[in-house]
Amino acid sequence: MVSEIQKKRSAYVSVTIPENQQKELENYIGVDVNTTGHIAVMSNPKTAKVLKFGKKAEHIHKKYKNIRRKLQVKGKYKKVKQIKNRENRIVNDLNHKISKKIMEVAAENNSGIKLENIKGIRKTAKQRKSFKYSLHSWSFYQLQYMLEYKARLLGVKIEYINPEYTSQNCSRCGYLGIRNGESFKCPHCGHVNHADVNAAFNIALRPGGQSGADKDVSGGSTGAPQVATV
Ligand SMILES: [Zn+2]
Repeated sequence: MVSEIQKKRSAYVSVTIPENQQKELENYIGVDVNTTGHIAVMSNPKTAKVLKFGKKAEHIHKKYKNIRRKLQVKGKYKKVKQIKNRENRIVNDLNHKISKKIMEVAAENNSGIKLENIKGIRKTAKQRKSFKYSLHSWSFYQLQYMLEYKARLLGVKIEYINPEYTSQNCSRCGYLGIRNGESFKCPHCGHVNHADVNAAFNIALRPGGQSGADKDVSGGSTGAPQVATV
C-alpha cells in the first residue's frame, strides 16, 4: 500500500502567481538619501509623517576609519582589510533594513516614492558637505540599487526628480529659505524644520519624470528657486 508520504512525493502542485497588481497611487512619499546626518529621511506630505533612518551610519564610519588608521600605523594590513570588511557588512545590513522598511511603508500607504536623480546629487554634493560619506561611497549607490530592487518586488512606483534646490526651497511656500546645517528657516512664511525633513517634503512634492541614474539634469528647470518680492 502506498503511504501518504509517497503519495505526496509523486503529487505536483499547481501554483498561481498573481500578477503584480498596481493599485491607483494615493500619493508620493519623498525619500532624501543625501542628508546631513542620516542614511535616509522619508517625508509623507499626505500624513505629514516623517521617518529618519540610519543616524548612526556616520558614527560607524568614523569609528572604523579610526581603527584602520591606528592599525595602518602599526603595519597590520591584514587586520585593516578585516576591519574594512566588517564595516562593509554592517553598512550592507543597514542598507537592507532601511530600503526594506521604506518600501514597506510605501506599499502600506499605497504610495509611490520620489527620489533625487543620482547624477544631480553628485553635482550638488558641495551643498551638503557634512555627510560626504554617503555621497561618494559604494554604500550610497548600494542603497539606491536596493531601493529600486525592493520597489519592483513590492510593486512600488519610483519617480526621479530634479534635485536642484531641494535643500534650499521652503517645502511650505516654495520660496528660498535659509539653510544652516541641520536647520531650515523660511523668512517668507516662517516655516521652521529639520533641513533633511524639509528637503524630503520638497522631493515628495516636486513633479517626477527624470529617468534616473543616466539622465543629465543640467537642462532641468523644475527646481529653479522662486524669489520672493516681499
Ligand atoms: Zn516658506
